[in-house]
Amino acid sequence: MKFFLSDRRNIAEGTLAFWFHPEQPVRFLAGQFGDYTLTSPRYTDAKGNIRAFSFASAPERDDIMIATRMRDSAFKRSLAELSIGAPVEFEGPMGSFTLHKDPARPAVFLVGGIGITPVRSIVEQVIRQKTRRQISIFYSNTTCARMAFLDDFEKWRADNPKLNFVPTLTDESPGSWPFETGLLDQQMLSRHVADLHAPVYYVAGPPAMVAAMKEMLDELGVDELQIKSEDFAGY
Ligand SMILES: Cc1cc2nc3c(=O)[nH]c(=O)nc-3n(C[C@H](O)[C@H](O)[C@H](O)COP(=O)(O)OP(=O)(O)OC[C@H]3O[C@@H](n4cnc5c(N)ncnc54)[C@H](O)[C@@H]3O)c2cc1C
Repeated sequence: MKFFLSDRRNIAEGTLAFWFHPEQPVRFLAGQFGDYTLTSPRYTDAKGNIRAFSFASAPERDDIMIATRMRDSAFKRSLAELSIGAPVEFEGPMGSFTLHKDPARPAVFLVGGIGITPVRSIVEQVIRQKTRRQISIFYSNTTCARMAFLDDFEKWRADNPKLNFVPTLTDESPGSWPFETGLLDQQMLSRHVADLHAPVYYVAGPPAMVAAMKEMLDELGVDELQIKSEDFAGY
């Protein structure tokens, strides 16, 4: 199916969001992803012209948003220079990084960097549908400038007492920063989650971060059936 680029914005340091208008409505579940092919890329390299991106917007929206860290690959440079109205080829939706059915069971998201995209889609849908679910989001970035969608999550938390948002910075601790600093570890998790064995855990981010979080949960004795993960292979 063809998607047409409708908007592009800088949303954090080194991070762009892209909005696409699909040629026909796409039915997807919040948390899923698709493959995007640049059909006539301005630049090419050995890594090819296809990348997977999670939906960053909720399914009910007309246009679809994705977000990515900009790097020097031919794909990313071509995407950044794509003209408004230009087509890309979309294949999907795919994936099972979706919210569990039982609303009584808490969800805890452990997110590294741009791994926030599927989580944003899920949380936006929960907020729009006014479903009352206990959700905690731990969101780790090196610096505040690189933290995409901070304003969205802060607003959603202010409007929803069941949403617990815990951003953390690993490479700086500005005096004005009211949240956590340092790596997301067992101590930080325990400070914010009363019963570590009750939730379903969702881990998303670069492969090294996902592996570290799974190891931490394993050390805490969390059953692997209680863990869902989305590995952003390619980072
Ligand atoms: C399910 C899923 C969802 C993703 N969602 C996002 C997102 O929302 N935002 C985002 O920025 N990135 C996302 N990614 C990562 C994205 O697809 C790119 O790999 C990443 O952005 C790096 O691209 P690059 O052009 O900067 O790097 P480069 O190093 O130039 O390219 C990455 C290379 O890795 C290859 N690759 C990708 N997946 C695999 C794999 N499983 N096995 C072997 N090779 C692989 C690509 O084909 C490409 O050649 C996702 C990845 C996956 C698998």
